[in-house]
Amino acid sequence: MKVYLDNATTTKMDKRVLDEMMPFFLENYGNASSSYELGKIANQAIEVAREKLANSINADPKEIYFTSGGTESNITAIRGLAYSYRRRGNHIITSTIEAPDVLETCRQLEKEGFEVTYIDVDENGIINLEKLEDAITDKTILITIMYANCEIGVIQPVNEIGQIARENGIFFHTDAVYAVGNVKIDVRAKKIDSLSISAHKFYGPKGIGALYVRKGLKFKKLLVGEGQEKNKRAGTENVPAIVGMGKAIELAYKEYIKCEPEIIKLRDYFVKEIQKRIENVKVNGDMGERLAGNVNISFYDVTSEDLIMELDKKGISASSGSISFEPSHILLAMQIPYELAKGTLRLSIGKDNTKEEIDYTLDCLEEIVEHLRKISDENKPACKFADKCGGNCTGCHT
Ligand SMILES: *Cc1c(COP(=O)(O)O)cnc(C)c1O
Repeated sequence: MKVYLDNATTTKMDKRVLDEMMPFFLENYGNASSSYELGKIANQAIEVAREKLANSINADPKEIYFTSGGTESNITAIRGLAYSYRRRGNHIITSTIEAPDVLETCRQLEKEGFEVTYIDVDENGIINLEKLEDAITDKTILITIMYANCEIGVIQPVNEIGQIARENGIFFHTDAVYAVGNVKIDVRAKKIDSLSISAHKFYGPKGIGALYVRKGLKFKKLLVGEGQEKNKRAGTENVPAIVGMGKAIELAYKEYIKCEPEIIKLRDYFVKEIQKRIENVKVNGDMGERLAGNVNISFYDVTSEDLIMELDKKGISASSGSISFEPSHILLAMQIPYELAKGTLRLSIGKDNTKEEIDYTLDCLEEIVEHLRKISDENKPACKFADKCGGNCTGCHT
């Protein structure tokens, strides 16, 4: 059995998305900037996709810029706003649980004379709003906090953050890459000034994304050259991918988001069964304010690397939540001990996963954890105090 449980890393493209894209590879291959017929067809297709994306988040099409994905959108928004409003102030607020692209961009900006405050989170992975308010100074120009966390799926108090930002005349950027296509988002209602989107997280193609920036805001462009995307993002538009993203967001709102109750049911069953069948596990992140498909769970006495490898042998694709096997900065920020964080799995359920797949995964996981713990037990150095503890200790031998 093949089971794909890594939908937070990327998703399988919907066949209907591919069907929509194909004519723009082989027939309507014009450059969207060309003034002849083929160019116009491409340009029109781009504008249709732009409208679909704008409608999906309650934005205006003029507020949507196409990019190469979530990473580029985040970097463009954060750097772009920071540079454009530098004269107003040099202070940025973010959180300790952002994805690496946002954190790295903030660290780069610190080297360029910006000051950054990193707000921490509680043990459920939710940012502390009081600390956010306390961090604001008259130099603060930007708050950048993610919509839903990429590892634990926890949805941040975006309403409140937007309100706080707007009241203080501060811009609010949100990395919504993991959220768009999973939950409904309204940038007006939530007072979001800029927001990142990536198609491959909602069954669209890879390497294409969008950035929403509210009308009237200035942001310095990242890619210079020809004047594409209202002179904000140079480079020939990836027409097939843009068309695919338009189709994918349409399907997300028509179909995928409506699967939420079923996915939650499957997820809760999954979590409950793991807790029932396997000892010494910890479920990470708030279970209420959370994206439907996300399970993040730590196992004592095993490593993520071994778990992922053994699951792979059984045909199951799972992840630790990041590319590296190092305990994640997100789990450590939630005060989860290093020893526990290093044995974490993120299992992200998508629209196509079935109960049979979850049952198969549960059986495999139970067997694998037992097996790995047995090996780890056998390889433990003998306890120096075995006469006192009986040799079955988990730590006193060190
Ligand atoms: C996937 C992801 C990104 C990166 O998006 P790409 O399109 O792969 O560049 C950024 N932030 C979050 C929260 C993500 O889940």
